[in-house]
Amino acid sequence: MSPDSTALVWFRGGLRLRDNSCLYEALNANNRVYCCFMLDDFYMRGGDIGAARAAFLLNTLRVLAQDLASQGGGLILRYTQNPPEECARLAQILGAGRVYANRDYMPYPIARDIRTQELLAQQRQEFILCDDQLAVRPELVKTDVGTPYTVFTPFKRRWETQLLQVDLKDVQPLLQRLAPPPPNLSQPIPDLAEFGLVLNQDIESAGEHAAQRRLSEFLKTGLARYDQHRDVAAMPTSTSRLSPHLKWGTISIRECIRTALSNDGPGARKWIDELAWREFYYHVGYHFPHVYEGPMLKEYSDFPWLNNPDHLELWKQGRTGYPFVDAGMRQLNTTGWMHNRLRQVTASYLCKDLCLDWRLGEQYFMQMLTDGDWPSNNGGWQWVAGCGTDPRRATRIFNPTLQQQRYDPDFEYIKTWVPEWGTASYPATPIVEHSDGRRRYLQLFNETAGARLNARTSSGTIRPTQQPSLF
Ligand SMILES: Cc1cc2nc3c(=O)[nH]c(=O)nc-3n(C[C@H](O)[C@H](O)[C@H](O)COP(=O)(O)OP(=O)(O)OC[C@H]3O[C@@H](n4cnc5c(N)ncnc54)[C@H](O)[C@@H]3O)c2cc1C
Repeated sequence: MSPDSTALVWFRGGLRLRDNSCLYEALNANNRVYCCFMLDDFYMRGGDIGAARAAFLLNTLRVLAQDLASQGGGLILRYTQNPPEECARLAQILGAGRVYANRDYMPYPIARDIRTQELLAQQRQEFILCDDQLAVRPELVKTDVGTPYTVFTPFKRRWETQLLQVDLKDVQPLLQRLAPPPPNLSQPIPDLAEFGLVLNQDIESAGEHAAQRRLSEFLKTGLARYDQHRDVAAMPTSTSRLSPHLKWGTISIRECIRTALSNDGPGARKWIDELAWREFYYHVGYHFPHVYEGPMLKEYSDFPWLNNPDHLELWKQGRTGYPFVDAGMRQLNTTGWMHNRLRQVTASYLCKDLCLDWRLGEQYFMQMLTDGDWPSNNGGWQWVAGCGTDPRRATRIFNPTLQQQRYDPDFEYIKTWVPEWGTASYPATPIVEHSDGRRRYLQLFNETAGARLNARTSSGTIRPTQQPSLF
């Protein structure tokens, strides 16, 4: 380190001080470190933005700004349509020799970072990207012949062999190197209304302290029995509820994995499996970016979805007449979060029973979730629709009644979210009966995507009788 080296940390995800790779690297190698965040029009004005996710982000930024200020630094917030130019301009004003950021794996940020690198190089400033968002970066998980995985279980086996390298970064002793921003450089953190958004959901508390509380609560009450309870939607401690914090990086993935590894047992092992799903979908999107444009399997490209707009609206509102589906949708609409079992059941009802294009559901989830995350959301939807990484494809059609009998046998979850269920105000019949929807979907599938998949894989036609009991 030269005696007066100055650096700029550009926060994107990874909105925390604790165990933050780019912050650690910057503080370690420089003695004056400024911090910034760009509110990017690409995200804040896009069709997928929703009040829950935007509010969670803005609340998180408020906590981050306070935390940085309490350590003698501060957050420079810039609202911009061109983050690379804004970053290069800031680096110039601040006299930063290096800019540090955590690496992102989606197509847009990859292109953004290439442009940033070019602009900074023109100014003779370094751009240093650090691995932080994932426990294992995509280049490290490949098959023996060097190709990316498209099936989860073999992916996970290989991914796990890399986990020994998960080390935490102790930033605390270095925080005195944070520098307060010069006056008038930062814009105020805006209100939601500035984006034309109104929050009608009671969302999760934001920021890294809230994330730490969630993790210790889960450690006390959920982790050990996670393998047994994770599908019990009515039980608040059945899962960690850390997804918005993992999405925005108010907790580090390394810390989650470390916590699980040091509390070994069947619950902790199952939890690591779920964290691996998140990594899997990031890796899939990195290696096969076309998944963000359409189905991973090209055989589904022109699937004849029926796309009845009334059905879509009733699904969104949680008024399909299947109480388990409706309870899930209402939990989402009320809190900005939905239990994983319900995400599967509601998604399956949308794309299989109602025969609506899964991308309509994908977009609605993105608009309503605090944890709306392109890789996990896209991966989850394509898995349910059968056009992504799930080798069982079309045969997985969740039966909403059997799912309720298995996972909410006492109707506890349903009673919480659908109070009128069981009264005359609740629909007597569903908008589409599961057996009818399933038959119709399989017929369309066998005539189109299924026929093309058969031609490619020479597997047999899928008949409605080939169903395991819960589907
Ligand atoms: C249709 C559909 C859409 C989804 N959309 C999203 C999304 O936008 N954002 C999101 O974070 N998750 C998404 N998921 C995955 C999963 O439902 C949530 O991560 C989980 O419900 C979050 O609750 P939790 O934090 O209590 O999870 P836990 O059970 O405690 O799991 C811990 C963490 O592991 C990760 N994880 C768990 N299961 C999965 C999974 N199946 N796929 C990917 N990551 C997983 C999450 O980061 C989660 O926080 C989706 C799943 C489906 C079926």
